[in-house]
Amino acid sequence: MNNVAVLGATGSIGGSTLDVIARHPDRFRATVLTAHRNVEALVALCVQHRPQLAVIADAAMQAELARRLRAAGVHCEVASGHAAVTAAAASNLCDTVVAAIVGAAGLASTLAAARAGKRLLLANKESIVMAGPLLLDAVNRGGGALIPVDSEHNALFQCLPPQCLPGQQPALRKGGVRRLILTASGGPFRGRTRAQLADITPEQACKHPNWVMGRKISVDSATLMNKGLEVIEAHHLFGAPADAIDVVVHPQSLIHSMVEYDDGSVLAQLGNPDMRTAIAHALAWPERVEAGVAPLDLTACAPLQFEPPDLLTFRCLALAFQALREGGDAPAVLNAANEIAVEAFLAGALPFLSIADVVEAVLAELPAQAVVDVESLCERDRVAREAARRILRNAC
Ligand code: NAD
Ligand code: MG
Repeated sequence: MNNVAVLGATGSIGGSTLDVIARHPDRFRATVLTAHRNVEALVALCVQHRPQLAVIADAAMQAELARRLRAAGVHCEVASGHAAVTAAAASNLCDTVVAAIVGAAGLASTLAAARAGKRLLLANKESIVMAGPLLLDAVNRGGGALIPVDSEHNALFQCLPPQCLPGQQPALRKGGVRRLILTASGGPFRGRTRAQLADITPEQACKHPNWVMGRKISVDSATLMNKGLEVIEAHHLFGAPADAIDVVVHPQSLIHSMVEYDDGSVLAQLGNPDMRTAIAHALAWPERVEAGVAPLDLTACAPLQFEPPDLLTFRCLALAFQALREGGDAPAVLNAANEIAVEAFLAGALPFLSIADVVEAVLAELPAQAVVDVESLCERDRVAREAARRILRNAC
């Protein structure tokens, strides 16, 4: 029996994870559920999954959570605050942790799970973008494992030789791997010109053609920053240099990514665009379990298309490659600036195209520094956010 902590249980990945867990009560049990501040959604999940611990990150909501759980007849332990989320990730209530909090807010709990030697199922890409080497070092020292849940990285993991476990570097060259090819749907605005993107609203940006996701990652998919973050994530997970990572736009989202070998072979992982496949793979690895995903009917698929990304219109992808090449803490600066810019866009305070401008300006203001430890990284994250907010204020 696997005891699973689902961090960010009320989100899109959290919901898909709990769906897979509920299909296999003989194998998996959700023992810890955490949420930011949506008490109602967390209580509903607790009623259904009966965890041993429920944590609400916003400490002001603890009393309400406890009251509502009692009223619903759920008698689990209740905790609150960000430190409680982090403690839950390392607690002996779980042996597997699904890191599905969005943004840098997930870093502390992801690191805590890694240090505690948990089997870490990583959806929270921002934490590996920010702290790649530190996180992988924590996984190796903790003695656990990191299994990627992001669909592209899960696909790469499935197509790579078995010695290419995340963090076990440098295995790619020994395995005869020449190139990692990340597929991108292109987002809702694929094919549009910059002029056509001037008046994009948050609602339009959040309407992804193939995936239903949280609002932040939906905007990242629309700007292609999501693919940029994923390039950095792939670099850290598998030890691939920037030049050995390519992005190809594949609008159908049926091929989730590919690995090219020295002999010319290209291995791809295919499946319907449903995150439960990657989540089930990560939960059960190295075994396989049913995920509730409809079988892929190739004869019913539209012809598979491939095209190069438009880096001039979707500048965020180019900026992510730039940050990866700069190295050090540049990816953390990129991520922090992007989080602030996306927040402003979602609040109606920043035009869609200006997200890239804010990220570019913050990167220019804060040249890359070497990553020393988590504390200095978090300080850099804070400084980058402050710079982004100042640039936003001056622009408005
Ligand atoms: P979401 O917005 O739907 O859910 C986010 C979850 O995190 C919620 O449970 C929320 O309560 C919690 N949360 C938010 N801010 C928090 C904070 N400050 N402290 C504690 N908890 C907080 O997001 P999502 O789409 O499920 O994405 C989650 C992560 O997974 C992101 O990093 C995203 O990039 C990644 N991811 C998502 C998908 C997808 O299909 N949705 C695919 C690949 C990777
Ligand atoms: Mg992805």
